[in-house]
Amino acid sequence: SDSERKRQNQTPLMRQYWKIKDRHPGAILLFRMGDFYETFEDDAVLVADVLGITLTKRGNGAAEDTPLAGFPHHALDQHLPKLVQAGHRVAVCEQLEDPKYARKIVKRGVVEVVTPGVTFRDPLLDAKRSTYLAAVAWGEGRDTGTVGVAFADASTGEFFLTEAEAGRLGGLLQTIAPSEVVVDKRHVDRLREAMRAVQGGEPPFAITKEEDWVFGLDFATETLLRHFQTHSLKGFGVDGMTVGVTAAGAALYYLGETQKGRIPHVRRLQRYRAEDHIALDPATKRNLELVASMQDGRRDGSLVGVLDATLTPMGGRLLRQWLVRPLRDVGRIRQRLDAVDALFTSPRLRRSLREELRHVGDLERLAGKVCTGRATPRDLVALGQTLRRVPPIQDLLDGEEAGLLDRLHGRLAPCDDTARDIAEALVDEPPAQISAGGTIRPGHDDELDRLRDVAGSGKEYLTELQARESKRTGIPSLKVGYNKVFGYYLEVTNAHKEKAPDEWIRKQTLVNAERYITPELKEYEETILTAQEKIVEIETRLVDGLRQRVAEAVEPIQTNARALAALDVVCGFAEVAERNGYVRPEVDDSAVLDVEEGRHPVVERMLPAGEAFIPNSVRLAAPIGDEAEAADEAGQILLITGPNMAGKSVVLRQTALIVLLAQVGAFVPARRARVGVVDALFTRVGASDNLAAGESTFLVEMNETANILNNATARSLILLDEVGRGTSTFDGLSLAWAIVEHLHETPGRAARTLFATHYHELDALSERLPRVKSYSVRVREHEGKVVFLRTLVPGGADHSYGIEVARMAGLPTSVVARAKSVLRHLEAHDVAAEVGVHGEPTDASGDGMPATARPRVSALPDAEAVPVALAAPDPIATEVLDR
Ligand code: ADP
Repeated sequence: SDSERKRQNQTPLMRQYWKIKDRHPGAILLFRMGDFYETFEDDAVLVADVLGITLTKRGNGAAEDTPLAGFPHHALDQHLPKLVQAGHRVAVCEQLEDPKYARKIVKRGVVEVVTPGVTFRDPLLDAKRSTYLAAVAWGEGRDTGTVGVAFADASTGEFFLTEAEAGRLGGLLQTIAPSEVVVDKRHVDRLREAMRAVQGGEPPFAITKEEDWVFGLDFATETLLRHFQTHSLKGFGVDGMTVGVTAAGAALYYLGETQKGRIPHVRRLQRYRAEDHIALDPATKRNLELVASMQDGRRDGSLVGVLDATLTPMGGRLLRQWLVRPLRDVGRIRQRLDAVDALFTSPRLRRSLREELRHVGDLERLAGKVCTGRATPRDLVALGQTLRRVPPIQDLLDGEEAGLLDRLHGRLAPCDDTARDIAEALVDEPPAQISAGGTIRPGHDDELDRLRDVAGSGKEYLTELQARESKRTGIPSLKVGYNKVFGYYLEVTNAHKEKAPDEWIRKQTLVNAERYITPELKEYEETILTAQEKIVEIETRLVDGLRQRVAEAVEPIQTNARALAALDVVCGFAEVAERNGYVRPEVDDSAVLDVEEGRHPVVERMLPAGEAFIPNSVRLAAPIGDEAEAADEAGQILLITGPNMAGKSVVLRQTALIVLLAQVGAFVPARRARVGVVDALFTRVGASDNLAAGESTFLVEMNETANILNNATARSLILLDEVGRGTSTFDGLSLAWAIVEHLHETPGRAARTLFATHYHELDALSERLPRVKSYSVRVREHEGKVVFLRTLVPGGADHSYGIEVARMAGLPTSVVARAKSVLRHLEAHDVAAEVGVHGEPTDASGDGMPATARPRVSALPDAEAVPVALAAPDPIATEVLDR
């Protein structure tokens, strides 16, 4: 073929290029040539396009020219992230020997493959967020219907594995949020399908195809055993999880391939148990604005934005993980709460700990760099300085008995030897490049000190030489200079060049000066340069040795990193609790949820100056075990009515956030709170809120509602906001009605529910069903303006409120009067449809009809008859207030 013919006529250099290129299919190859990284052929076209650099051609010895694009080596940190962020995998090929010593073609090899999910490069890593690579395997035979998912953060060495029903894959991947997923090349469509089931558009990660043998169980097991150097996987508690192990093997294989085997910091495989955590679907995560605000996707208006008072990058990452994975085990929750409590009640302890934490670097990623041979001297110094904070932190925690604090205290290891080793070897502020010299501390190595003396006195000698020759020749401006091409030289400005002695050898003529060398100069140059070369050699060797010693002691360093991260998070929780006035929630296994004067943690921070947040209390219970009575009394389902903008959604969301925070182990924005742990949190918010999505919003709404009704248990918490709004009034109302009944009546699914609606007709349910309670968010008219009181009060809303608001908004009096009469008419008739649909009440005015109260639903024969018998709600209120 054309390309084969092309390749046969290659120069040796291009043959080397293609050999390496072929070994990295699917990756862009950055081929180091001297001071440049070059790309060829299709890669060049792609790279030129993504980076906006020039595409050139070059004769390569064959008939045709080769497209070529390259950039200087120092621009790697600038260009590499752009290529990877555009979704590409990039193989970085370096020169493996000094061209000076190469006999033929310089030896070259790929040192790493940087991919969207696997990277150590700081510009590509978010300090506050884990970057995960995931691998997915589908079970076969006995395991059909099961998927295995493994995920790892290459920068820290975290490595998890889990198994789930195949139908849950999409949701699981959304929870893990990997940047890249490795999959058997035969199953790419399956993966896309799984993602499509949970969200539209392209999957939110890069997909990397691997050969099918990578996904064999035997291969996977062998890969894992060889890496961890164990005889079985029993120690990791993943024995028998064949599909999960297959995925883990594939993930580890891929990590090894990209890192060229340098992944010793992956030291354990942890089992991730979805059932340990509250299930949070992506819609819920988004609706509750846990990690990003809905408005602009930023962190500021999100829960993590308010809750994050951490001082270390790894603490920031752990906080995020905790927030999206709240716990279900009361014991573990209380351990965290105890720790936060201890730090809350002792501000002095907290402040001292935080003072130390402020100086703690990203130990987790530093450890990763050390193990993979990537740590620079500066990284090592940062690591050593962080380790020095461990003993004082340990001292501070001495005698702390609170569950988690005591455990963290026990886990911290001083690593004195490593810290001392680093401090003794390296200067406090090493240069960015070892080649600059001066990385190793004086007094650390005799030979190095001697060579430094030689180089130093050589330079001193040159200074003397300059003075002496200047005097001898009478050239006042004589200067000794240095450049890479000629080495040391003497420079004479044109004004004095006549005075240059004959024995000086002219080397270079500049516009306004001449440069000369002398044998004496060259002699000292030799001494200085040889010494400097040796200095760099020795310093490099010493740093390598140090890195290796630190890598060998990495296990306690990683343990420290995890303990410090957790300590940072609980200190942060205590700090935020004090700043924002949070309290310790009571967390137990009951089915009660009792929040006294709860607040929305984010909304309360975002209110304009001068506006106060109005706290609200919410109490409910699910009818399980001892709680049957409480459920009857407080209610299992709270219907919250009120016009738009009254504050219904805020009440819903704050209640969910308080539960979530409590189960994360944090204090909560309330006066008092008791939270019976929930197993899952479901939210369905109004169709109007995601109209932008453009799909049939009503269908989306019903999909989500179906998911809730099918999956909620009696221990779940459900938030329904304006369900049924996406369709006609009667359809919507009927559905809302039936949904409430279902949640009330279905055994095992009677979950605690908050239902916000503007269908005040639903209030009638509270008279029919014992555990449904009506609440409304109060509003009032004051001097012709609507005043939102934001207080939640028992009882339904005043439903003629909408017409009132319309009047205040300036609707013609005749229209207002007519609306009132229609309303009265509608309310008086059981079969509202007769008039409601045609808008033409048969008996003309409706005047003279008895202005009865709203129909008593308890008088209705059965639920099926209810929706048609209901009055039309007041869309007017909604619309006027929307303006
Ligand atoms: P609804 O769901 O009833 O349409 P929201 O809950 O969205 O109304 O509240 C509308 C706005 O009112 C919020 O964005 C917030 O600024 C403000 N708000 C809501 N509840 C409170 C409160 N308790 N205290 C102060 N302001 C509030």
